Amino acid sequence: MMKNFMLDLCVGSLMAGSAVLPQFMAAGTPSDVAIASAGNADAKYLAYPVYEGEDLELSIVGNDARFRLWSPEARAVKLRIYGQGRYGEPLQTIDMQKAENGTWTASLTPVPYGKFYTFQVNVDGKWLDETPGIWAKAVGVNGHRAAIIDFASTNPEGWAQDKGPQVKAINDVVLYEMHHRDFSVHPNSGIANKGKFLAMTENGTVTPLGDKTGIDHLKELGVTHVHILPSYDYNSVDEANLPANQYNWGYDPYNYNSPEGSYSTNPSDPATRVREMKQMVKALHDAGIGVVMDVVYNHTADNDKSNFSLTAPGYFYRHNQDGSYSDASGCGNETASERQQMRDFIVNSVKYWAKEYHIDGFRFDLMAIHDTETMNQVAAALREINPSIFVYGEGWTAGNSPLPAEARALKENVARMNGIAVFSDDIRDAVKGHYSDAADRGFATGKPGLEETVKIGIVASTAHPQVDYSKGNNSKFPYASSPSQIINYVSCHDDLTLTDKLAKSMPGSSEADRQRVARLAQTIVFTSQGTPFMFAGEEVFRNKKGVHNSFKSPDSINAIDWNLKHLNKDQFNYYKELIALRKAHPAFRMTSAEDIARNLKFDKVTTPNLISYSLLNNANGDEWKEIKMVFNGADEAATVKLPKGQWRVIAQDGNICHTGLTAPDGTQLTLPGGTTEVAPRSALILAR
Ligand code: CA
Repeated sequence: MMKNFMLDLCVGSLMAGSAVLPQFMAAGTPSDVAIASAGNADAKYLAYPVYEGEDLELSIVGNDARFRLWSPEARAVKLRIYGQGRYGEPLQTIDMQKAENGTWTASLTPVPYGKFYTFQVNVDGKWLDETPGIWAKAVGVNGHRAAIIDFASTNPEGWAQDKGPQVKAINDVVLYEMHHRDFSVHPNSGIANKGKFLAMTENGTVTPLGDKTGIDHLKELGVTHVHILPSYDYNSVDEANLPANQYNWGYDPYNYNSPEGSYSTNPSDPATRVREMKQMVKALHDAGIGVVMDVVYNHTADNDKSNFSLTAPGYFYRHNQDGSYSDASGCGNETASERQQMRDFIVNSVKYWAKEYHIDGFRFDLMAIHDTETMNQVAAALREINPSIFVYGEGWTAGNSPLPAEARALKENVARMNGIAVFSDDIRDAVKGHYSDAADRGFATGKPGLEETVKIGIVASTAHPQVDYSKGNNSKFPYASSPSQIINYVSCHDDLTLTDKLAKSMPGSSEADRQRVARLAQTIVFTSQGTPFMFAGEEVFRNKKGVHNSFKSPDSINAIDWNLKHLNKDQFNYYKELIALRKAHPAFRMTSAEDIARNLKFDKVTTPNLISYSLLNNANGDEWKEIKMVFNGADEAATVKLPKGQWRVIAQDGNICHTGLTAPDGTQLTLPGGTTEVAPRSALILAR
């Protein structure tokens, strides 16, 4: 199984940019593409009855606990009630009754609150292992038994009024990708609930040197949304042995609809993990910060022993012609979103998290394993609950799939999805160098020839008269029809941190030099059209000691050392100002491809590693008539020609202030136009 996690986790970006589809597929291809069937198995599964109700497995109605398991091929199903979350004999074993649409039902009165349950399915005369089902919303330690709890009792005070930030357009969002342990577990975080959901509920925490940490740090930095790594119940960390301090990213799903126990203070008490996750959400909402959840419906930790397999064997997965599991996830299996009951599962699961936990957005892991129709239904269902909820994902797979490319939720198909964004591997690899080749350099580290791909990132992969997609490295056509479809980034939990990538690709450089490059790289990301995304801790120049696939590395690799905030104070202030600049200026957040084509003009530049452009016409209602952006990725100063006039200097030579840089005497820094120098490895931002 370890193999699974390993593969899983290194694959997040493996296929990025590899499968480039011809342009005709992006523009106007009908979305109801027929999905080829893989062998005879598909015909069998298509004949299964579908149960569309939202009361699967357990619903509480008045004094009744009503059970309904979907298991169309079962010959018999047993429901067992236990007094404990693990061990011990069942208190009761109940034969469930065959009911409509492939379901099996049973009912208990009064509701046995505090008890646990499992299902056991007989297929072809064989009893499978017990399972908590696929809809367990609360579970005992390690998730092997589902729990019967009163959800109303898990709501923190004020929960009924709790709301995430209103989002008019996803491009207004600033995303911060965070693992619970990374963020709070370091001894100098000053946080009491280290590695827990509750870490976010602590106000006033500081490092021994007095710098803000935790939620106060997020407020200070100015990000709008925290994107939490998998927080559903995953398989790898032993919840019964928390003192072992096991670490995992969590891309090994076990119970999709219950929070992970190791992030709670008491995994043995099913209500605790539910309550504490809600407390985290509430604390972030109270601070004006939204919560995005990383969801991994594309595969399960186990194959034959997953909860999917133990309820309806085979149905939830795709297979090869020979009947074996197909493996587009690189983890041993891939789910089959094109089958109605699986599609409904995904849609109902995100709806559940949005309603019960007030989640504000969803990040889909290996989204292209899912079909575009499923993703469209996900986005539509969430919009109905709250128009502020947004969805984005990895528009690639980690291996081949029986699902035809035209049906996959690939980045190349994003124009056929409504309300879905994809990560731009274009800007990622062009700015910092290739993700999987540590020594490879990018635009920001002085490698020439990547200018056009960076420009693809700047215009959010939309059609622009001055961008030549034939020169793009990862994409050959403008696959986005709107900037709302693009997430820009230069690093995430996958692969080397930006800090480590720069150390490996700039041997012999000084740390000060590498910090300059990081500033330039993130300036490109945060001023580009689309939505910016950053990896937690990058703002204090955190590293992971060169470990690129740290999915199960110890805290000594993954924890953010918050003393870095003191050491790299200038770096932190740069990021903070950069975020403030983006938030203060709608020109960086244009809402249509047409606006970008009209208001964003590149200057003719022939110098390698130099990009110069203007945001014109008070773009998107900006107070600034024109913003001049110049990025110099070379190791030497570059000369550019500016239109004559009085330019306010916003960023120069590694410094930035969103209201304009000032001279030591407090006066605004200005440039008169004409010929000016741009310092090596830096951004020049001017406004008038
Ligand atoms: Ca778990």
